[in-house]
Amino acid sequence: MAINFMLDESGILEKYVRELIRREKSFHLFEHIRFLFVWKMGDPEMDKEKRWLEASIRRLPSRERDVYGRDVELRVYQQWWNEKTHKQRARLIYHELLHVNIQVDEALTPLIDDDGRVKIEILPHDLVITGFKSEWVKFGPPTEYVTLAGKLSETLVKEKKLSVTQS
Ligand SMILES: [Zn+2]
Repeated sequence: MAINFMLDESGILEKYVRELIRREKSFHLFEHIRFLFVWKMGDPEMDKEKRWLEASIRRLPSRERDVYGRDVELRVYQQWWNEKTHKQRARLIYHELLHVNIQVDEALTPLIDDDGRVKIEILPHDLVITGFKSEWVKFGPPTEYVTLAGKLSETLVKEKKLSVTQS
């Protein structure tokens, strides 16, 4: 059997994660958790709906967190990673980090469980688009997605302008 998983010893996954934590205010809390960086080799993994996974992130079981001193595992399919541009890689890691929510109190201090572990939740996507390729080819994207995409990009443009005037 071929080896399917390998620890990332190159440090490149960690580099992308650290850079995003440094740059994105909403990720600053990740300073409190310890990551495990793993390559998926061979074939990509599949999700429940049998779609290929470029990457995945999970909270490690309590026992592993205690024994190995890591809280969250980021897994990336190495072959596709190698084919990505810098921007595509940053986007992929950004996406995976959005799945992680560190629970905090009113003072924005991370909550700790009875055994001293930071309380971490894995969040589902807040934007889900499904369908069939041939449906989209025939009819175009469904109108609700077009409207949503329009609204989202308006908001994004406004936020960008705001951040430009503030900085
Ligand atoms: Zn996702």
